[in-house]
Amino acid sequence: MRGLYIHIPFCNNLCPYCHFYSVVDNDGSLQEKYIFALIKEMQMLENKVFDTIYIGGGTPSALNILLLEKLINAIDSNIIYKGSEFSIEANPESVTDDFISLIHNSKISRVSLGVQSFFDDVLKLLGRIHSGKQAEKAAYKILNINKDLNMDIIYDIPYTDNLKSMKTLKKVIDINPSHISAYSYDAEDTGYLKGFNNDDTLFLEIEEFCETHGFYKYETSNFAKAGKESIHNSLYWQGEEYTGLGVSAYSMVYIDKNMRKRYNHGNNIEKYIINPEHIENIEIISSEDALIEDIIFGLRMKKGVNLANLEKKFGKIDKNLLNKIEENINNGLLVREGQCIKTTKRGSLGLEWLSCSLLP
Ligand code: SF4
Repeated sequence: MRGLYIHIPFCNNLCPYCHFYSVVDNDGSLQEKYIFALIKEMQMLENKVFDTIYIGGGTPSALNILLLEKLINAIDSNIIYKGSEFSIEANPESVTDDFISLIHNSKISRVSLGVQSFFDDVLKLLGRIHSGKQAEKAAYKILNINKDLNMDIIYDIPYTDNLKSMKTLKKVIDINPSHISAYSYDAEDTGYLKGFNNDDTLFLEIEEFCETHGFYKYETSNFAKAGKESIHNSLYWQGEEYTGLGVSAYSMVYIDKNMRKRYNHGNNIEKYIINPEHIENIEIISSEDALIEDIIFGLRMKKGVNLANLEKKFGKIDKNLLNKIEENINNGLLVREGQCIKTTKRGSLGLEWLSCSLLP
């Protein structure tokens, strides 16, 4: 399986807690040049066959509608898409009738909507520019054109009553999307509202509520109805190859003997526009490190990782690593089921311990 990620680095407003690369392009002068560069990069791809496509950001729905149409047409004519899943991210304030009509008439199969909360005071605290009402309307508009809908929410937000997170989740479930992403508020990179959250009880409450309403937890922050798990995001967690187009987008390709190469275009839109082939941050990942990465990312998924499959791919697993896994089983953070290892309920509460305990 191979995934194509396309980064749209434009937002109508920059939220103070956000760590993604994005710019506000008030006069629209960068957008056209950027889409031109993006299409050029797409045309230069050596391998144009992909199972999944994901247009993320930033805010893809904030793009001028004619440019978004141009991009979708370019994908149609340059990419051989195998039809597994084609997603686009959107924010409620930019889900216009034109956006809906464009998505309706395209091969896009799934829209991921940044709801975050239905409470206007919480949205304001997060620096979001939409209202709860707008989020609700946008969700119904997407459902009306029969696209799969993911709704992103944030919980454990500092200075916010946890009850508001639960009420937001209940409303999401009433709207009835096919997928819910519930992220714990994270101020790690930006420092905004740092140090006031971390409520494991709330996480367990969210998990239980989703599962009793038919949303199966298949990854640490993701819940889906049966068969509606995100195929594209699962590629990242399962160590599959992906190509990232656009500024700040990462690619990962296999090279010889399970070694991998990961790289991106850096975080400077002007540089990217001048040369969309420009590459920065090249990292060669040895086979040993790739194995550890596959275990760490794989354990984000509820089904865990199959050690026998990893041995087929990487050869015999080193004794030291097996000992570390055993130690975590004894400490009640992991559990073994047949050939698979999985996190226990306690182990799934914040996965920082994983890298600390498995990395050499
Ligand atoms: S809209 Fe999304 S991508 Fe843009 S700044 Fe806010 S959180 Fe970041």
